[in-house]
Formats: sequence, structure tokens, C-alpha cells
Amino acid sequence: MEKVDAIVIGAGVVGLAVGRELARRGLETVVTEAQGTIGQGMSSRNSEVIHAGLYYAPGSLKARLCVQGKSMLYALCERQGVAHRRCGKLVVATEPAQLAALRTLAGKAEANGVPFDMLDAEQARAMEPELRCVAALSSPTTGIVDSHGFMLALQGDLERAGGSLALSSPVDGVELASAGSNRGHVLRLGDWTVEAGVVVNATGLHAPLLARQFLGLDQGDLPTASFAKGSYYSLAGAAPFGQLIYPAPVDAWLGVHLTLDLGGQARFGPDHEWLDIQSPEQIDYEVDPARSDVFYEAVRRYWPGLADGALQPAYSGVRAKIHRPGEPAPDFRIDGPSRHGVPGLVNLFGVESPGLTSSMAIGAYVADLLALPARSVTEV
Ligand SMILES: Cc1cc2nc3c(=O)[nH]c(=O)nc-3n(C[C@H](O)[C@H](O)[C@H](O)COP(=O)(O)OP(=O)(O)OC[C@H]3O[C@@H](n4cnc5c(N)ncnc54)[C@H](O)[C@@H]3O)c2cc1C
Repeated sequence: MEKVDAIVIGAGVVGLAVGRELARRGLETVVTEAQGTIGQGMSSRNSEVIHAGLYYAPGSLKARLCVQGKSMLYALCERQGVAHRRCGKLVVATEPAQLAALRTLAGKAEANGVPFDMLDAEQARAMEPELRCVAALSSPTTGIVDSHGFMLALQGDLERAGGSLALSSPVDGVELASAGSNRGHVLRLGDWTVEAGVVVNATGLHAPLLARQFLGLDQGDLPTASFAKGSYYSLAGAAPFGQLIYPAPVDAWLGVHLTLDLGGQARFGPDHEWLDIQSPEQIDYEVDPARSDVFYEAVRRYWPGLADGALQPAYSGVRAKIHRPGEPAPDFRIDGPSRHGVPGLVNLFGVESPGLTSSMAIGAYVADLLALPARSVTEV
């Protein structure tokens, strides 16, 4: 049987970032991916926003890893020429009743160490003349990134550090080694069997289901997967704003917001629709044209100039949830040996937004959970 130091299961942005970090800390690392190319899951069906870290409970993993991951992501993009733009964003209150939500956000931003400015309606309109609002919170460190270019850069770093990628290689079974055992975990990938001291489950939407196939893991402590779809509509014609525009958040959902791609094209979304399915294989990614009514109504609250017929169904993504409708949104759940007692195993559950922004910080966090010494190499 072949042996490697570490197997990371899943080559989305998080799996690639974790694999890169493990390889750079000296482990012979293979990132294994079920699909024929990298990043075909959540990582290619999102808003490509570099989140500033405004929304998350102070001290939570989401807050800490987003803020740290944002800096790491900008630094990598600058070093390696990955397309990105620090375009900034405005979170807007469209009526006085929403001012409290903006104030709450300002409090979180302050606690999380995220720069922001409060603007009155006139100041906001001086920045974005087409905007209708009574006040806004400006977030200058929010940006956008070419997520595929970012993943290719992570893959390049992984390979430069001696790691490799195994495409079209779904893991279909794992027999975990117990504490004190003198052999590693045994993974089955079709006809290939491999032994590894470290296993990281970074399979996004599949993570809770895959963990149920890990022999030797306490099944009673695993989260149940649930799924929430987010659909996007693109705007025909020129973008009306130079930065991202978000409504005041409702609970943990950020609302139907306007994001821009690096070509300057505007899109709106994602909305939030719980799916009544049990596994990712049942997902239908088609965007239902009937949802456009909700979009027109939501967008016109902050952009009354939206013309009839200007929105076109674009694409959708599905969020990896580990809670049920009506329950408060939990933090990222990153289970290491101190939680489940299995040496060398890390399960990543519920890594929805801001997972793209946080990915490199998640990589460092996972390596720390595994007690790998921090690397001393200079960044290249
Ligand atoms: C609608 C939406 C909008 C979002 N917007 C943003 C945003 O603007 N900014 C932000 O920071 N975050 C955003 N996110 C979150 C971000 O996209 C995710 O957190 C991130 O992409 C998760 O990456 P991942 O690698 O964990 O998962 P994925 O990208 O889903 O990768 C998991 C991989 O595992 C593979 N896999 C599954 N099972 C197996 C197996 N058995 N063997 C091998 N491989 C397997 C899959 O094929 C897949 O490639 C958004 C998410 C959604 C859904």
C-alpha cells in the first residue's frame, strides 16, 4: 500500500488552501478531488467577494478567520498577480427602521478590527448617485477576486512545496487509525488504497455525509447536512454603481445585494431558499425565472432606477449548512483531534460564506490544530 503524510479530500478553495499549508509545513501532501478539475463545487458558485469581516460574532471562527484570511488573500493576489479589486462596499439602510441593524454592524466591525465609515444619505449619494438610502456603512477593505485564478495560485504553491493533486479520485471509504496505533488512516479511492497519517475532510457540501463513512469516528457527534440555494440574476447593460451595495442584513442572511465581477458586470443575489433534499447529488442548479419578482422588489428598495426586464437569470450556488431553518446560523465547525479523539483527522463542516475569503486562514488553523510547527520560509 502506498503511504503519504497527508491526504486532503476535496479540491475546492478550502481543500487547496489546506493542502498548500500542510505541504509548506513539510508534509508530503496529496489533495484528492472527485471531479476532473479543481473548484467545481461551492468554490465556483459564489459571489467572489473578499469579505471584510463585518458580519460575524466577535471572537467567532468566522470573524477571526475572515479578517486574517482577507489579509492573506490580498497579499497572495498582489504577490502572484491574481486578478482582484479593492472596490469597497456600502451597506445601506433604506428606511429609518434599519438604522439599528447598521449600528449593530458597526459595533461588530469595531470589535472585529474591521475599518468602516458611517455615511449619511448625502455622503452615500455623493459616492453612488443612483443609490437610495437614509444612511450607509462604508467598508473600504471589501473587494472582489477571480476565484479560479486564486485557486490556481493555491495549486501552484501546493505543487511547488512538493504536494500534488489527484483529480477524478473520489474517496469512497476511510478506516481511521485509533490513538496509539502504529499505522495511519487507510483511504480507499476506487482501486487505489493509500495510508496517511493526516486526513482532512474538505468536501464542502459532502463533508457531513462523507464523515459518516469514516470507520472509527463517533457518529453521534456529526452534524446533519442541510442545503440552502442562492440564485443570482445578472444585469443587462452597464453597472450603475462603482462598488458593491448590500442591504442592511436580516438575521444571518446578507440580503439580495449587488456585486460586480472584474469585468465590471453587475449581478444581484444570492437569495436564500432552503432545499428539501438529503444529498448534494439531488441539487438542481437551474435558476427559476419566477424568482425574479422578489429580486426586482428587493433591489428597487436601494436602486429605484432598475428598469423592467433588465434582470436575467444567471447561476446559482448551494450553501453547506449544518443547521435547520429557523435555527441561528452556527460558526464554522472545524473538528480536530481534541474534539473527536482521532489523531491526525480534521473535519470541516458548515464552511459556507465567508469560506472563500477565509480559506488561507483556515489552512493555517487546520495545520495548527494538527500541531504542525509553523513554517519559517519566506513568502514567495
Ligand atoms: C451562493 C454562495 C455565495 C458565496 N459567496 C461567497 C463570497 O462572496 N465570499 C466568500 O468568502 N465566500 C462565499 N461563499 C462561500 C464559499 O464559496 C465557500 O465557503 C467555499 O467555496 C467552500 O470551499 P470548499 O473547498 O470547502 O468547498 P467546495 O468548493 O464545495 O469543494 C469541495 C470539493 O470536494 C469534492 N468532493 C466531494 N466529495 C468528495 C469525495 N468523496 N472525494 C473527493 N472529493 C470530493 C467536490 O467535488 C468539491 O470539489 C459563498 C457560497 C455560496 C454557496
